[in-house]
Amino acid sequence: MLVNGAIVAGKGAGSVKTRSSEETEQIRVILRSRFDELNAEYEEAAAQNHRLRLVEIGDAAGDDQADSGSKTAERDAASSLLRTLLERRTQAEHALQRLDAGSYGNCEGCSHPIPVERLEVFPSATTCVNCKAVRERRAS
Ligand SMILES: [Zn+2]
Repeated sequence: MLVNGAIVAGKGAGSVKTRSSEETEQIRVILRSRFDELNAEYEEAAAQNHRLRLVEIGDAAGDDQADSGSKTAERDAASSLLRTLLERRTQAEHALQRLDAGSYGNCEGCSHPIPVERLEVFPSATTCVNCKAVRERRAS
């Protein structure tokens, strides 16, 4: 009996682990709050970006070179933050959709299960580390 139990437990610990609905719900809560967080940050950054542009338009006439240089830098930083937040928000939304579809936790590239440790750190990850690296190489 005991031996048998150990074997079953050993099999269960393999890579084809299915999530309980409780775990799925937990992930959903994490992803939702992540999405809401990013959404709020994005809205704030967008408003800030808008303010920067307004100030710029209003001030442009009296600017000397140094002033307009630092403003350009500020605006660039703001729009790159905006882009990053938008990407992350989209990613979190995408992960939620995959959770609903039942494909969450499997890599979109190679369809192997994504290591749990990676998902713990990046709950919105939809690719394994290898496929992510490949994608980034292709994108750049
Ligand atoms: Zn992969």
